[in-house]
Amino acid sequence: MRRFIIAGNWKMYKTITEAIELANGLKRELMDCTSLDIVLCPNYIALEEVQEVVYGTSIKVGAQNVFWQKEGAFTGEVSAAMIKDAGCDYVIIGHSERRQYFAETNETVNKKIAHVLEHGLIPIVCVGENLKERESDKTFQVVEDHVKGALKGFTKEQLKDLIIAYEPVWAIGTGKTATPEQAQEVHKFIREIMTKLFDEEFSGNIRIQYGGSVKPENVKDLMSRADIDGALVGGASLKVDSFVEIIKTTEGITK
Ligand code: PEP
Repeated sequence: MRRFIIAGNWKMYKTITEAIELANGLKRELMDCTSLDIVLCPNYIALEEVQEVVYGTSIKVGAQNVFWQKEGAFTGEVSAAMIKDAGCDYVIIGHSERRQYFAETNETVNKKIAHVLEHGLIPIVCVGENLKERESDKTFQVVEDHVKGALKGFTKEQLKDLIIAYEPVWAIGTGKTATPEQAQEVHKFIREIMTKLFDEEFSGNIRIQYGGSVKPENVKDLMSRADIDGALVGGASLKVDSFVEIIKTTEGITK
């Protein structure tokens, strides 16, 4: 039985003051939601403050990115040790916005995963096709490249806590959601890739989130599908009401 995991990617929104306010609002509403995993991913400079707000609850904190070097002259970058020291448990790696605007590749994603695993952080690895790729029937090929490129060289023991987030790029921040059928089809495919790479027991335990315009109105249909184990939520995680509704709706789903 895989436990649901709902993560909020706050992207480059919220000052430290606003992040503290949002985290406090969520803490008040979500105190009793302990049957699923909840992760808040604010920007780097708000990580520690958000962690202080949720400290002592079951809500966890994650970073939105990381660099793969331990330390050094890498102006503007942040290492896994720094993220861990700020109180984080998770790191989003390879988000499509990072691939699109900051030239991330399967190779850099792979290096980042190796680095965060060394520091005991859990990677949330984003994969997914863009609109052109979907329209030219390349969805499965792209997703397979992303998954295989990200996981290359690791043992199943190293990856036991891995989270994959399937995020069709055409559905991120656009209001267009993949239908539950479209999402389930790709999630099942990702699980099959992991079975081939490792084995059925491993792939059966790995949680795969869906991300792309998840909202209170569509979350139930998406989360009810067999291979969808949670959501990576952008826009709707920036307001207490919508994020709480997404989480409470998911809590009520049994599969
Ligand atoms: C995301 O940021 O990963 C995301 C899925 O955003 P949105 O929910 O706004 O589409």
